[in-house]
Amino acid sequence: MKESQLSTPTVSKLVRDMEESATLKMASMARELKAQGLDIIDLSLGEPDFDTPHHIKEAAKIALDEGYTKYTPVNGLVELRQAIVDKLAREYNLQYSLNEIVVSNGAKQSVYNLCRALLDPGDEVILPAPYWVSYDGIVKMVGATPVVIPSSIDDDFKCSPEAIEAGITERTKFILYSSPCNPSGSVLNLEELEALAAMLRRHPHVYVISDEIYQHINFTNHHYTIAALEGMKDRTVIINGMAKGYAMTGWRLGYTAGPEWIAKACTKIQGQVTSGATSFGQKAAAVGLAADHGPTHDMVKAFKSRRDLIIRLLEEIPLLRVNRPQGAFYIFPDVSGYFGKTSATGYHVKDADDMSLFLLSEAHVSTVSGVAFGNPDCIRLSYATSDAKIKDAAQRIAEALSTLA
Ligand code: PMP
Ligand code: GLU
Repeated sequence: MKESQLSTPTVSKLVRDMEESATLKMASMARELKAQGLDIIDLSLGEPDFDTPHHIKEAAKIALDEGYTKYTPVNGLVELRQAIVDKLAREYNLQYSLNEIVVSNGAKQSVYNLCRALLDPGDEVILPAPYWVSYDGIVKMVGATPVVIPSSIDDDFKCSPEAIEAGITERTKFILYSSPCNPSGSVLNLEELEALAAMLRRHPHVYVISDEIYQHINFTNHHYTIAALEGMKDRTVIINGMAKGYAMTGWRLGYTAGPEWIAKACTKIQGQVTSGATSFGQKAAAVGLAADHGPTHDMVKAFKSRRDLIIRLLEEIPLLRVNRPQGAFYIFPDVSGYFGKTSATGYHVKDADDMSLFLLSEAHVSTVSGVAFGNPDCIRLSYATSDAKIKDAAQRIAEALSTLA
C-alpha cells in the first residue's frame, strides 16, 4: 500500500467523545506538580490515607502461599460470594443466593458492567446531582442519556422524590446514586429512602442502582439500603466494595448484589473483558468482610474528627458556604460567592472550574470542580488526609480567596 493511501491513525469515536475522569485528572496534575518540586496538598483524590488492615494483608499472603494464583469463577470465588451473602443477611436481613452476587475489579467496573448490561442507546438514567463523576461518563460511554436532577446546598444536596419523578419517562431504565454520597457526603436517612421507594412504586419499570461503597464511612451510625424496603429488592442492585471501608483502593475489588438475570448479564460481560477479579485478593476480601471491623471503626473515628476540623476551618472563610457531610470523606462547599471576582495576580474566577484551577495554581491545593459532579457552584475537597495537611490547606485556601475582589 502506498503511503498516501494510509489514513491518519485515529482512536475510536467512543474514545474521542469520552471525557477523562475529572478526579483522576486532578490527582495526576497534583502528582506532576509535586514531581516538579512544588509543595502541593492533594485534596482531589478520594482515597483513605490508611493502610489496608493487617489481618487482610496477612490473608492475601496466606492465599498466595496456598496456591490461590489461578483464575477464579468469573463472578467470584464461592467463598467471597458467600461472605457477601452472609454480610447482606446480617446487616439488612436480606437473603441473596450466590448467583445474585458478582465480584468485579472495583466498584467502578460494577458500575460499568451494569450500564453495559442494562442500557441501550436512547435509554435514560436518572442521576440525582451531585453524582459521582464516572456515572455520567459511563452512562454516556454506552450510548445512553443521563437525566440530571439538580439540588443545592440549601437542600443538603438531596433531590426530592417529586423532582426525581419529574425526570422519569418511559425510556428511564434506572436511577443511580450513592449514599453516603460522593461528592457531597450527604446520607439518605430511612424516611428519605421510604419516600423515594414510595415514588418508585408508581413507576415499576424503573430500577435502582444503589452505590453503597461508603457504607461504613457514615457518621450517622446507621446505614440504610433501599433494597431492604418493601418490594424493592427485586428491582435494586446494590454496589459495594472493599476500597473505602477497608482502605483497599489498590486491590480493585467491588461487587454487586441484585436480581439473577442482571448478575448473569454482568458475568457474561466480565467473562469477555476481565475473566474476574484477582484470586488471592478475593480470599483476603472474604476474610475482611467476615472479621471484626475494629480497624474500619478506627478509620471512621478519624474521618469524623477530620470532618469536624475542616468544617470549622472552612466556615471561617467569608464567602464560602459549607455543608455538613454525614458520611464519606468529602466536603462540598458552595464557592459561587466568589464568582466574578479577580485576584491581585489577574486570575478571574468565573466558575467552579476556574476556582479549582485558581486554588491549584495560587494556593497549591488540589480539589475537584463541582462541574464534573453536575453541580457548577461547588468544589469537592477530600479530607482523607492528616489534620496538619487539612489545617495547612485551609489556611492556604483562605489566603488565596482573600485576594479575590
Ligand atoms: N462509587 C463511588 C461513589 C466512588 O466514589 C468510587 C471511587 N472509589 C467508586 C464507586 C469506585 O470504587 P472502586 O475503587 O472500588 O472502583
Ligand atoms: N472514587 C474516588 C474519587 O472520587 C477515586 C477516584 C476515582 O475512581 O474516580 O476521587
